[in-house]
Amino acid sequence: MRVYNFAAGPATMPLDVLTRAQSELTDWADEGMSVMEVSHRSAAFVRTAEGAESRLRSLLGLGDDYEVLFLQGGATGQFSAVPLNLTAPGATVDYVNTGAWSAKAIKEARKYAQVRVVADEEATGYASAPEPGTLASGPGAAYLHYTPNETIGGVEFGYVPSVEAPLVADMSSTILSRPIDVSQFGLIYAGAQKNLGPAGLCVVIVRTDLLGRARPETPSVWDYRQMAAAGSMLNTPPTFAWYLLGLTLEWIEQTGGLSAMAERNQAKAAMLYASIDGSDYYSNPVAPDARSWMNVPFLLADPSREADFLAGAKAAGLANLEGHRSVGGMRASIYNAMPLEGVRALTDYMADFERHHA
Ligand code: PMP
Repeated sequence: MRVYNFAAGPATMPLDVLTRAQSELTDWADEGMSVMEVSHRSAAFVRTAEGAESRLRSLLGLGDDYEVLFLQGGATGQFSAVPLNLTAPGATVDYVNTGAWSAKAIKEARKYAQVRVVADEEATGYASAPEPGTLASGPGAAYLHYTPNETIGGVEFGYVPSVEAPLVADMSSTILSRPIDVSQFGLIYAGAQKNLGPAGLCVVIVRTDLLGRARPETPSVWDYRQMAAAGSMLNTPPTFAWYLLGLTLEWIEQTGGLSAMAERNQAKAAMLYASIDGSDYYSNPVAPDARSWMNVPFLLADPSREADFLAGAKAAGLANLEGHRSVGGMRASIYNAMPLEGVRALTDYMADFERHHA
């Protein structure tokens, strides 16, 4: 039986994508073999790779002034690749700290540059985002980095900061959840394993004027200009992941594109937060204007019931609701591929559990 999977990533994928992949697994594109078995340089695979890129470009409305790269090493690799590509030694870079992933990006950037933390939400217990209009980059900043959606804390910016320095965003857990105006960003990166497909790729969208600044010691596979020139194939890419990413983008197109995603995601999040706020048994600590559409952490009034809650959820076909190991509690990740019915099943279960245990 297929269950509703609320994992934060790797995460649920659209069933249509999985069944399509299953149907063409052993004989793909009339090649008489699986997509995993063809050369990444074959015409058939290059068509697939380029198709994924052009779908992403059209969903996000990207012009020629942005390169799209499909890299390995995850979003974690980009924590290093961003400063290596965009700064010279000794440069100053600005970071916004809104949670665990921002903090990891900051720690890594400190290896390469002078990091200035221009806004820090740690004192709020990572339960809010900076007020709109308050963020600014400091003098001489090579870029300002922020995390539009904190996957662990469930804190999401409801706006795009407007700052002087090029804006760099770790969109791992929010990319394609809604339409965005990419022209506000210098660079966007996102690990694929939430809204884009399976694990294995990190998508980097970089404005072309930021290319060509990489430090000489930058690994070639993370050098944006070199990878752009090589079609992201300086080394052998994870071809199966790339193919599934393309199918996931096709599914987004077929189900209405980014405005339809936004409508569905907002409705799912509203349903879940309403059931948390409408109960004395469940709580979510995040400021209402900074609540994530994608990752919804919540606590039970009686933490000693957590194991019962999770076991009952599992028996009801609701998987992977435990919070991140660093914070505990519960977390429901409700990415693009989570249907509204999954969230309804969860809220029904939560109400039922409260009736029996509160
Ligand atoms: N940034 C964010 C916001 C994330 O959620 C994650 C993964 N959960 C990462 C970075 C790290 O991604 P990866 O595991 O692909 O390196």
